[in-house]
Amino acid sequence: MATAGHSKPENVELCVFCRRHAVVPAWRPFCSERCRLQDLARWAEESYRVPGEPVDNVPVDNAEPVEGETIGQVKKVTDRDG
Ligand SMILES: [Zn+2]
Repeated sequence: MATAGHSKPENVELCVFCRRHAVVPAWRPFCSERCRLQDLARWAEESYRVPGEPVDNVPVDNAEPVEGETIGQVKKVTDRDG
């Protein structure tokens, strides 16, 4: 009989981040740890990034140990009345 029109197997669940690779149960709903980390990083960036700006892929493992705050915050020079 006629098919529904989809030629792709419906059993395959695609990674929610890259939408290209099949989901690995260990990293659901992502295909790998990398996609999972990148998705988290993307959310963190978008919290202070302006939509539309070109996003550079900054390696996450290059992050320096921070003391306390500054995670997800924009480093800004502010004039304080001291
Ligand atoms: Zn992926």
